[in-house]
Amino acid sequence: MTTEELRERLLSSPKNGYTRISDAQRAEMEAYAKRYMAFMNAAKTEREATAWAVARAEELGFRPFTPGMAAAPGDRVYYNNRDKSIALAVIGTEGLERGVNICAAHVDSPRLDVKPNPLYEDTGIAYFKTHYYGGIKKYQWPTIPLALHGVICRKDGTRVTVTIGEDQDDPILMVTDLLVHLSADQMQKTASKVVAAEQLNVILGTEPMEGEGSDLVKLNIMKLLNEKYGIIEADFHSAELTVVPAGRCREVGLDRSLISAYGHDDRVCAFAALDSIFSIDTPAKTAMCILADKEEIGSVGISGMESRFFERFIGGLCHAQGVNPADCFANSFCLSTDVAIAYDPNFAEVHDLRNNAQLNYGVAVTKYTGARGKSGASDASAEAMFHVRKTLDDAGIIWQVATLGKVDQGGGGTIAYCMANRNIVTVDAGVPVLSMHAPLELVSKLDAYMGMLACKAIYLA
Ligand code: MN
Ligand code: MN
Repeated sequence: MTTEELRERLLSSPKNGYTRISDAQRAEMEAYAKRYMAFMNAAKTEREATAWAVARAEELGFRPFTPGMAAAPGDRVYYNNRDKSIALAVIGTEGLERGVNICAAHVDSPRLDVKPNPLYEDTGIAYFKTHYYGGIKKYQWPTIPLALHGVICRKDGTRVTVTIGEDQDDPILMVTDLLVHLSADQMQKTASKVVAAEQLNVILGTEPMEGEGSDLVKLNIMKLLNEKYGIIEADFHSAELTVVPAGRCREVGLDRSLISAYGHDDRVCAFAALDSIFSIDTPAKTAMCILADKEEIGSVGISGMESRFFERFIGGLCHAQGVNPADCFANSFCLSTDVAIAYDPNFAEVHDLRNNAQLNYGVAVTKYTGARGKSGASDASAEAMFHVRKTLDDAGIIWQVATLGKVDQGGGGTIAYCMANRNIVTVDAGVPVLSMHAPLELVSKLDAYMGMLACKAIYLA
């Protein structure tokens, strides 16, 4: 055997996905990118993503889960967890004791949450106080267009939905930064302190009402909010308002190969899991898509992946088939589908290129996340990795292996441990992202498309 033949036979040679997809796949990829971008423009928060999923699921014949309902092959059901997270299932021909094939993603993203007592006026400018949610570089948030999204539960018990800053005719909101002319001291600060959390105050307005007092601008803003939403200041105490980057997602690059958006992490995987479960026929094993909240702050709380809402849903389905949920869990598989770190040549020093995801090399399968000595990781077994390897290879999906950059440079986590702790075999896999957790992130269309195909293959495994 020649050296060339031996190299071909023994060594891996990863190839750019564009050299491996057909013209037909490219057309499908573009169609998928359009669907994804429409979803992203409609869903910037976990509530909006959940509402979008519920509406689409209803159109496609999914029925809301109710305890005691049947779970027969071909049934399509969904569980709306308090409008903030959702699980959907297509019941398979095999019994639930054989387990469920799950793709689980999250639909919350880093942002600025509005404090419960937010509205104030300082020297003729009205502001909202904010509290950042998730891991952000605080200096990235001033001087960019911002929008307000959320809900307010009013005194009379009604709930109103708020969206300001997305319509082309809407005003936007903004946080200021210090002018460079007076930044001598600021420029000496470390990046984590250049802009402090308590400086992330969002400008709401500057026009005072007629009259006496030091709150005339604030009063005018409250008047405008009252006219539009019927709210009073105390209603902020029972509200979830969040400040996110304003604007629509866009194609990036002269070749349009990338997509920029707020919150690809993790809605690029959430949409992959959702779009693919909507496209499958009745599978052998039951297929389940989960879109969780609160991943960015540790998967905690009633809408996070640690919540027992998941047990209630899967337990209810198992009950309908007379199956012990513990047996279902033990035989289930979960693709914890969350974004991966794309290699950025501008910051080469933090990556181990041999073990890093690259743009356009396909969906990234990650054996473990964590920090330092794999702390906090749900380290997938060789057998679990083989299951994914074989499933993706058999389906002709372009994929790559990935880790979270150089050891001891940082790290991260996903919802994988929440699923693994439930005795479900779990592997992380997702779409590589550039500028992760920045107000605008980048993904490649090819990787996003492969992410969707990977979820579909897992559902049908
Ligand atoms: Mn994520
Ligand atoms: Mn994240």
